[in-house]
Amino acid sequence: MENIFEGRRAALIDMDGVLYDSMPGHTLAWKGMMDSLGVGCTREEFYLYEGMTGKATIDLLMRREFGHGVSDERATQLYADKSRRFREWGPAPQMPGAARMLAALEKGGLTRVLVTGSGQNSLLTALDRDYPGAFPADCRVTAYDVTHGKPDPEPYLKGAQKAGVTPAEAIVIENAPLGVRAGKAAGAFTIAVTTGPIPREAFEKEGADLIFSSMEEFADYLEALLARK
Ligand code: CA
Repeated sequence: MENIFEGRRAALIDMDGVLYDSMPGHTLAWKGMMDSLGVGCTREEFYLYEGMTGKATIDLLMRREFGHGVSDERATQLYADKSRRFREWGPAPQMPGAARMLAALEKGGLTRVLVTGSGQNSLLTALDRDYPGAFPADCRVTAYDVTHGKPDPEPYLKGAQKAGVTPAEAIVIENAPLGVRAGKAAGAFTIAVTTGPIPREAFEKEGADLIFSSMEEFADYLEALLARK
């Protein structure tokens, strides 16, 4: 069993599909918004775009359907519509095992930094209530902090910077293939937790260093490492 705490000082933690079981709500909201524009798409494909900025996702689908992207202003409007649909889906449930994972990372001496491409304020404000004290304001990288979303390494490079560590001293915790690509490109030890429908092979292809099939399983693994010390 590899001790992932060895030589590591920070954990850079994704939000949707990691801290919250929110992806079913996001995919439903994306499909609903795109349907309203007459853009053909499936709910499942949005799992593959997870981590990209809202604008990048909108441009991808609009180009495919109509042959051109949209202005920043139009993208902001459309993302607001998608966000409204997501809020209507209801409060996102916490991911089972995520609180134990966060506690174990802290116990292992790692600084925890939130790294999300999301600008979903309904979730960002819920973090303080659901995971009290885990992510102070200076330990968050969100859609508002980055120009390039995942799979660009920028979000994770900024996350390491906020923690005051080099990327090699950080572990990344992700549920999305593009997020794993971003973590690897940043130079961090990248752990995939497959909490959605995407098969394990997709994460192997992106070069994930470790893959767990649930957050509970990853939390068990961390607790076992700490008990061994
Ligand atoms: Ca995610």
